[in-house]
Amino acid sequence: MLTNKIFKCTLFSVLVSGLFLAGGCGDKNAAREETSVVTKVSGKTMGTFYSITVPGGFAGGEAGLKKLAEDEFKKIIDAISTFDDEAELSKFNAFESTQPYPVSEYLADIVEECVHQSRRIDGAMDISVGPLVNLWGFGKKKTGGRIPSQEEIDEARKYVGSDKFEVRKTPHGPFLLKHDRRVKLDLATVGEGLGADAVARALDRLDVKNYMVAVAGASRSRGMNPKGEFWKVGIEDPSKPEHSVFAVVCPLDQAMSTAGSYRNFFKDEATGKVFSHAIDPVTGRPVEHSTLSVTVIDRSTFVTDALDTGLLVMGADKALEWGNRYDVAVYTIEYKDGKAVGRHTKAFDQYLKCAEK
Ligand code: FAD
Repeated sequence: MLTNKIFKCTLFSVLVSGLFLAGGCGDKNAAREETSVVTKVSGKTMGTFYSITVPGGFAGGEAGLKKLAEDEFKKIIDAISTFDDEAELSKFNAFESTQPYPVSEYLADIVEECVHQSRRIDGAMDISVGPLVNLWGFGKKKTGGRIPSQEEIDEARKYVGSDKFEVRKTPHGPFLLKHDRRVKLDLATVGEGLGADAVARALDRLDVKNYMVAVAGASRSRGMNPKGEFWKVGIEDPSKPEHSVFAVVCPLDQAMSTAGSYRNFFKDEATGKVFSHAIDPVTGRPVEHSTLSVTVIDRSTFVTDALDTGLLVMGADKALEWGNRYDVAVYTIEYKDGKAVGRHTKAFDQYLKCAEK
């Protein structure tokens, strides 16, 4: 067995920084103000990478920008990490009881919003999928690519599902409650989105007009790039081993994230079969269709990150049908006739068209 743990679309942030300097996107009549002062920082967080660019310069310089970002990331890690035993979610997961467990307003709100987003896509994204994620070796405990038995999958599925836990908001504060003491929640799918949103919000509070924040595959941008043009972001070509661009978009101040089945997976060397980290909560198994990635553009990376994994689980046809029905900007890449093929919903059109200018 071979385990390939490369963080999902980590490259994406590299593409972001590579691409935003390329010109040609934006209103040709708008006055373009090129700036040579740019504050740029990057680093590691949540087991992946982040990068932030502020054209025009950040008042606190690189050190100030890094501190701002890492303070925000710490709040998220302290609340939702399942990699840190001291994090609030880890403690809830370790609490093997069906008694109400007091949690912070912050964690309760995240869980509640995830449940809401999950319902929008018929449970294809399910934050109680943790036991299955662990069983397939994609959680904190890496099991070296072991394929679990059907009995193990069936057993884990007994405590996976949005009916197996609840958020209870009371005058005494919010609680999380397990209906089966074995329930474990996994918010990994929204961690990067929460991170990008948090930094963007902090920059907005400081009235920073132009920025690009990327945490792995989740990005938030505002205003203009250092060339005075709209930001451009690349969607990675999942069919190529090297980091190359499949499509280019202008997010136009919206949030954007991509979920892919092609960077975090293991291969069963005996059969050559590949198992990705996107788990279908219905079957309890990694998805097997030919959809390689799903990109969503919406109002926040929390929302896009919550949706993209579920839409990936649903596969391109259903994801695009859903996006067109609810007017959501969705871009899919799938493997067809030996090559990668991109399709998108009507709402995604404007972001591609802008990048063509
Ligand atoms: P996404 O597509 O956004 O999400 C996929 C992940 O969601 C899967 O890996 C699985 O965990 C889960 N998932 C799978 N199927 C479903 C489904 N149907 N519904 C819902 N969820 C599903 N990794 C480390 O190696 N070391 C660390 O210290 C570490 N710390 C972290 C701290 C935090 C706060 C978070 C959020 C993550 C951390 N990670 C860490 C995890 C790592 O970065 C993950 O690989 C990443 O968060 C998963 O997101 P993604 O972008 O790769 O994939």
